[in-house]
Amino acid sequence: MKYIVVTGGVMSGLGKGITAASVGRILKNKGYEITAIKIDPYINIDAGTMSPYQHGEVFVLKDGGEVDLDLGNYERFLDVELTRDHNITTGKVYQSVIDRERRGDYLGKTVQIIPHITNEIKERIQTVAVASGADVCVIEVGGTVGDIESMPFLEAVRQMHAEEGRGQMAFLHVTLVPLDSQGDQKTKPTQHSVRELRELGLHPDMIIARSPVPLKEDAKSKIAMFCDVPTEAVISAHDASDIYMVPSQVERGGLSDYLMRKLNLSVFAIRTEWSEMVEQLLRSRISEKVNLAIVGKYTHLQDTYISIREALKHASIECGYRVETAWIESEKLEQQPELIEELGRYDGILVPGGFGSRGTNGKIAAIRYAREHKIPYLGLCFGMQLAVIEFARTVLGISDADSSEFSNTKHPVIDLLPEQQDVENMGATMRLGNYEAEITEGSLAHSTYNTTRIIERHRHRYEVNPKYIEEIEANGMMFTGRNKNRMEILEIPAHPFFVASQFHPEFKSRPEKPAPLFKSLAEAMIQYKNRNKKKI
Ligand code: GLN
Repeated sequence: MKYIVVTGGVMSGLGKGITAASVGRILKNKGYEITAIKIDPYINIDAGTMSPYQHGEVFVLKDGGEVDLDLGNYERFLDVELTRDHNITTGKVYQSVIDRERRGDYLGKTVQIIPHITNEIKERIQTVAVASGADVCVIEVGGTVGDIESMPFLEAVRQMHAEEGRGQMAFLHVTLVPLDSQGDQKTKPTQHSVRELRELGLHPDMIIARSPVPLKEDAKSKIAMFCDVPTEAVISAHDASDIYMVPSQVERGGLSDYLMRKLNLSVFAIRTEWSEMVEQLLRSRISEKVNLAIVGKYTHLQDTYISIREALKHASIECGYRVETAWIESEKLEQQPELIEELGRYDGILVPGGFGSRGTNGKIAAIRYAREHKIPYLGLCFGMQLAVIEFARTVLGISDADSSEFSNTKHPVIDLLPEQQDVENMGATMRLGNYEAEITEGSLAHSTYNTTRIIERHRHRYEVNPKYIEEIEANGMMFTGRNKNRMEILEIPAHPFFVASQFHPEFKSRPEKPAPLFKSLAEAMIQYKNRNKKKI
């Protein structure tokens, strides 16, 4: 097993995760199997309880792990499926060390950060890496070098370096090279952060310099000299117009030549899917566009719906159309109902997942508009539940139809199932990760997936209430994906494209393999737009 450790200096938010994922992708393109581990030095056990305001999207893995959104980038860049153990947090590490201590596993010794916490970290890294069956494991250490929280992790990888032997591990340090008012590239912050690494006993093998513009030769030589690496080990990672272009950009800077020499790797096979995908991406950018309105909460926060954004991009790459998105705050639709009519300008409407009652009426109004005006609609998780509520209110005439998540209504069309009702611990009732669904033959879901059995990822607590299914279906909304008494997909056959899923298809979407529901949405939007054009 070869390990590549990626650390970050100067400040957070440099795109270290994308850089690390890109390094992995480059080696995958050379024929290697890659896996990735994200270390988050916070005390939380996982990202499940974190607010989108603080932390962006919670990414959901196949085993139900609720993790940092960087794991989503790894899955998309490397086309792998990771597990919860690929996200190591301080909380998880301490929890297992304390559990062992209580069991008496440490035989009366004083339990300390070194060696007990560091051993636990090393053991976790090695176990996950080996279990993945990959050739190379990329380890991203979250946070910035110098943070108190990341110290035990850096100490653990330092020890690993000594234990693994030469040619088994490489250290990549991602830093910032800012411009001064004259436009000169300043290397001092990089020098300082490398010095900080050295104080911890770590010596970077390569420096990846983030900068708004390509790194100039003199900045490169200065970094090389002060940081004690050859010039060819200093790579420019200037801003790219799309994250999927980062691998080829750093590769052009000579990343893999040097890195592979360090790790004693030679080119094993050439894979070209990624570069073909990037070419298609560039083509789709200059092609015709369709417009999608995404009606949700937190729409001003870029990172909240990152997987949805990426899945739409994947669909657009595949369809050869640009899918432009407008993010609409659902509460605005409540405060200014006249804005609803403006939804008529879009070729599609999407309501993403969500929790809590704030803004739901705005989303319901948008769904009604899509249904009544036959605009393509895709609902994801909460977007499916609200589609059921809207249908029950408007079509079935049950005016107080609602979800028991936020209402004590007599008509909970969205509810906990009887088997969930008596569970006291709310956290335990969340349905997380992979579940199967059976698809009705001949349905839109069937032609979308081209199979009658699918597996998708979930993150929800409430379900369509089975008591209302007969009445809903009798009125034209069909449940065409099911897992026993749990409804997984709904559609309205009389509408050109009105589909919603209880699961989150966005988590399994890949740049080279878009999630089927997103692809179908894009196709439906293209058709809708072309039909409308003809009318005019
Ligand atoms: N709040 C809803 C539930 O818990 C939907 C969750 C979601 O959209 N992820 O069932």
